[in-house]
Amino acid sequence: MRCEICIIDEKEAKYRCRICGRSVCEDHYLKNMGICKICDMTLCYICRNRFAVAVCAICGRPVCEKDSVRRGLARICNQCLQQQLKELSEDQQ
Ligand SMILES: [Zn+2]
Ligand SMILES: [Zn+2]
Ligand SMILES: [Zn+2]
Ligand SMILES: [Zn+2]
Repeated sequence: MRCEICIIDEKEAKYRCRICGRSVCEDHYLKNMGICKICDMTLCYICRNRFAVAVCAICGRPVCEKDSVRRGLARICNQCLQQQLKELSEDQQ
């Protein structure tokens, strides 16, 4: 069984992703999460638990619905939102 993500050097798949079920090598597997690198990119970077629904308009990282707010057509993650609120309150002083 070969890793399903490797393109150039096909390594042996030693692990299985708990989300998509791909067989992957150690380079493409996150042992602490039990998921493959592809699923890692689709998960919210804040909770690492729910699938991302959008990327933050400010930092560009994937976020889920619960960890982001809608701003017009864009979405902003909670961390960038906190940062904005902090800057706003500093401006008022
Ligand atoms: Zn691989
Ligand atoms: Zn996966
Ligand atoms: Zn999240
Ligand atoms: Zn952000």
